[in-house]
Amino acid sequence: MNKYPVKDASPVIIMKLVIFGPPSAGKGTQAQKLSKKYGIPQVATGDLLREHVAKKTQIGIKVKSYLDSGRLGPDELIVQMIGERVSRPDCINGYLLDGFPRTIGQAQELEKMTDVDLVLNIVVDFEALAERAVGRRSCPKCAAVYHIEFNTPKVQGICDKCGSKLIQRDDDKEETVRNRFRVFKEQTAPLIEYYRKKGKILDIDGSGGIDAVFGRLVAAIETIRT
Ligand code: AMP
Repeated sequence: MNKYPVKDASPVIIMKLVIFGPPSAGKGTQAQKLSKKYGIPQVATGDLLREHVAKKTQIGIKVKSYLDSGRLGPDELIVQMIGERVSRPDCINGYLLDGFPRTIGQAQELEKMTDVDLVLNIVVDFEALAERAVGRRSCPKCAAVYHIEFNTPKVQGICDKCGSKLIQRDDDKEETVRNRFRVFKEQTAPLIEYYRKKGKILDIDGSGGIDAVFGRLVAAIETIRT
């Protein structure tokens, strides 16, 4: 993490964070809140990939089948996409990586790109997660996330923020969810050990409501800001 003085202002703190958690651990919701609090963009690989698919770009055409089946897309393509995203001007004061890295190969490529300050690892019981995943509803327009039980919109099925009709993403359907858990266990869980050995990871208890988890995340981030 770098601090540099800005004329007539408090020092700007550059923070490069990674947020980890199994599918449906509430990672995306927390990332959105952290991004707002700290004024750094949330770089969400899944959202970027879905955008590419929707726009039918070259990347989108290549990754569509991976997204639909819950398998991980090819490292090379994902790394290239993230590299391009974090070099944009809005990332000058840092960023929060959500959904990247997901493999050791991606983590090694990230290390070549930059030094990460902290990895926040949301820890949640797997059984509770499956229930969360299938109840999730998303806004196809502004990417806001709701849950039919735990985080309901004001009007059922309608996005509070932009009024669009909420959808269940294909990758939140039951079979895909099961596959994503399997993929997470096989490919992403080893990353936790990778970052633990480097002393860069903090485990965050992901139980309880959104605000309780958010409070724990903020407390963890504050430990590296002081
Ligand atoms: P997410 O919204 O983060 O759960 O991602 C949705 C899907 O996008 C995943 O199931 C993968 O197919 C793909 N994806 C997201 N991030 C990555 C990544 N870092 N590496 C490879 N595939 C990814």
